[in-house]
Amino acid sequence: MESDRAISDTLMDVQARIAAACAKAGRKPDEVEIIGVTKTHGPDVVREAWEAGIRLFGENKVQEAAWKIPESISGPSWHLIGHLQRNKVRPALELFSVIHSVDSVPLLERLERIADECGHRPEILLEVNVSGESSKEGLKPEQVPEAIEYALQCRSLTLTGLMTMAPFCPDPELARPVFAQLRTYRDRWEQEFAIGLPNLSMGMSNDYEVAVEEGATWVRLGTVLFGHRPAWRPQREDTERWEP
Ligand SMILES: *Cc1c(COP(=O)(O)O)cnc(C)c1O
Repeated sequence: MESDRAISDTLMDVQARIAAACAKAGRKPDEVEIIGVTKTHGPDVVREAWEAGIRLFGENKVQEAAWKIPESISGPSWHLIGHLQRNKVRPALELFSVIHSVDSVPLLERLERIADECGHRPEILLEVNVSGESSKEGLKPEQVPEAIEYALQCRSLTLTGLMTMAPFCPDPELARPVFAQLRTYRDRWEQEFAIGLPNLSMGMSNDYEVAVEEGATWVRLGTVLFGHRPAWRPQREDTERWEP
């Protein structure tokens, strides 16, 4: 079911909440950018969100993005936020300028090789499984230093930060330690490697205010902006060409 409210109205509420969370944490609201997560929605929603002022968009499946992005207005910066299978690296690099979900050294190797081959210069984040849930994707914290080391010697990839998913729970306060922990790791690794990792991609519709209080710079928002997602995803036959 689509939300009945205009995206521009909803966006104003969300921005006010982000500003309040920033004020509470002594941050400036312009330190936080919204990524509009348009998965399951069509190019019409991308357009309305763009007209409302959203500039960054997130998709979690390469195959869905492969038909949607070419059919959407040009201008948005597209971010891949879902797990990236190694056989989808090539189309992912064609479609996305930022990849949040880098979760292994072999994936880094492949991204670097194909980005180099095709002249892409993506920005990447390492996805960290802070909470240690076995069902979650992402690097275990102890695996991250090796991945940072690898990423730093890639000439086509620019590592700019970290991403995490908090375990879903109705009470957003329960996600706070996860977000705080990601920031603590970030500070530690910035020191350890003498690098900047300015981007913290954390917080979704149900917990973004807490994430902002804990230092998020990118919040990934779907439901709160665009309403509940339909159970099915629009797909197109011609995405077959992206298959391995
Ligand atoms: C779907 C998705 C989101 C947005 O979820 P909402 O709860 O609808 O805001 C954020 N991040 C990732 C990785 C997602 O897959």
